[in-house]
Amino acid sequence: MHIPLYLDQLSLLISLIGGYKGLNEEVITGSGKNSWKSEAEGGESGDIQGPKVTYIPPPPPEDEDSIFAHYQTGINFDKYDTILVEVSGHDAPPAILTFEEANLCQTLNNNIAKAGYTKLTPVQKYSIPIILAGRDLMACAQTGSGKTAAFLLPILAHMMRDGITASRFKELQEPECIIVAPTRELINQIYLEARKFSFGTCVRAVVIYGGTQLGHSIRQIVQGCNILCATPGRLMDIIGKEKIGLKQVKYLVLDEADRMLDMGFGPEMKKLISCPGMPSKEQRQTLLFSATFPEEIQRLAGEFLKSNYLFVAVGQVGGACRDVQQTILQVGQYSKREKLVEILRNIGDERTMVFVETKKKADFIATFLCQEKISTTSIHGDREQREREQALGDFRCGKCPVLVATSVAARGLDIENVQHVINFDLPSAIDEYVHRIGRTGRCGNTGRAISFFDPESDNHLAQPLVKVLSDAQQDVPAWLEEIAFSTYVPGFSGSTRGNVFASVDTRKNYQGKSTLNTAGFSSSQSPNPVDDESWD
Ligand code: AMP
Repeated sequence: MHIPLYLDQLSLLISLIGGYKGLNEEVITGSGKNSWKSEAEGGESGDIQGPKVTYIPPPPPEDEDSIFAHYQTGINFDKYDTILVEVSGHDAPPAILTFEEANLCQTLNNNIAKAGYTKLTPVQKYSIPIILAGRDLMACAQTGSGKTAAFLLPILAHMMRDGITASRFKELQEPECIIVAPTRELINQIYLEARKFSFGTCVRAVVIYGGTQLGHSIRQIVQGCNILCATPGRLMDIIGKEKIGLKQVKYLVLDEADRMLDMGFGPEMKKLISCPGMPSKEQRQTLLFSATFPEEIQRLAGEFLKSNYLFVAVGQVGGACRDVQQTILQVGQYSKREKLVEILRNIGDERTMVFVETKKKADFIATFLCQEKISTTSIHGDREQREREQALGDFRCGKCPVLVATSVAARGLDIENVQHVINFDLPSAIDEYVHRIGRTGRCGNTGRAISFFDPESDNHLAQPLVKVLSDAQQDVPAWLEEIAFSTYVPGFSGSTRGNVFASVDTRKNYQGKSTLNTAGFSSSQSPNPVDDESWD
């Protein structure tokens, strides 16, 4: 039996009547699309009027069991070995086949074993030796296939080898590594992985992100910071306040790199690499990871990477994880709620993420499901950070088996036992679809994704959807093929950011014919198409 969550429900209802924004609200810039900017512009620090953010996230558990808690790899984990990997660029070091070949130090090997890793995933086999060799890298591999360890392990190995400079006794903290990711929950997850792999070493990882008290972020940093995991807004804020120095940065990692370089975050990332003290790209190692790399974004990435960077593509660039069984149903907007309830009742208590396109709709659908006695919580950019973390916690532990989310939860989140993803609304771009359904079917486990296709609004996605489905060897409904055929646009990829399905390294397509404007964006690029979500 489902237990309705009255408190959660109440807050959702309050939000519907307009009284939802609380003390920790950071949205200052109005529309919300770029509301993450408010921090960088001083929103949280009080330079711009607005309520002060007081939230201090609870510290993660410190005991070893919690630090190394992990879930089992799934039945298809070994099938990763059959995926084709393409490496392009000059003088790539050979792939390694085992952790032993990486020659990591004993502490790291112990941590890898405690994390339950016995075998490398393909992106790890190729990326670890490339990073160990000091090369810049753009790596593209399917969702849930171990990209985080692929960059953390070699960076840690280098830091252990070279020694670190930051310590709690230094006045100015100068991290050797900066990792940025587009959402608070994702950067927190990366931090927990960094903490796990650096356990028992002298390397200290710190996480800072928006929606939390700025003083808290500063206090974390001054205690010593070798690896700084940050969302862009908070990072720029801290840099602006001269709370960290950038001179020692040897590794710059952009996770979900295509998102980090697009119109939403791209300008902020450009500012980051031109900050005083930030070593030039020749002096640092830059690593870009994602499951999708539209052609346009690959072009922009050139500015961040040394010209001899290597490109690793595991499987098809932009392809969906084959362990996710994808179903597309034709459902008009007025039938969606009924269909959703029918599906959720059949699913029972299995963990399900339901994606919708706007924050308001997330509240609305979550409230509706609670009224239907389906234990539901929600996550989106207008919820206070405390509520976002509570929602994720309730979903992770199974207290609320249904999480209604906007695209703020589409990327990177690695939650055990998410068996289903439902796209109540399809996203406007196909790469976002690939990320959303990648919340299930992780690490060799299987999952299912059901998407409601509304011919009134989704026809532009028919063509790229047919491609994603057929590339992942899924059934393609005849009606979808028909729509795709009737709306066929040659060369169209369903993304406003160029061809999502760039076969592999697209350098050869654009080298020598760059058309970047002064902001660093090609004139053909349009603004971030994804809903009204706030990204930091
Ligand atoms: P990621 O794609 O980095 O989010 O990783 C997805 C999940 O796979 C996480 O739960 C990782 O801890 C897990 N994972 C990554 N690499 C390995 C590995 N080599 N062996 C077992 N589990 C792994």
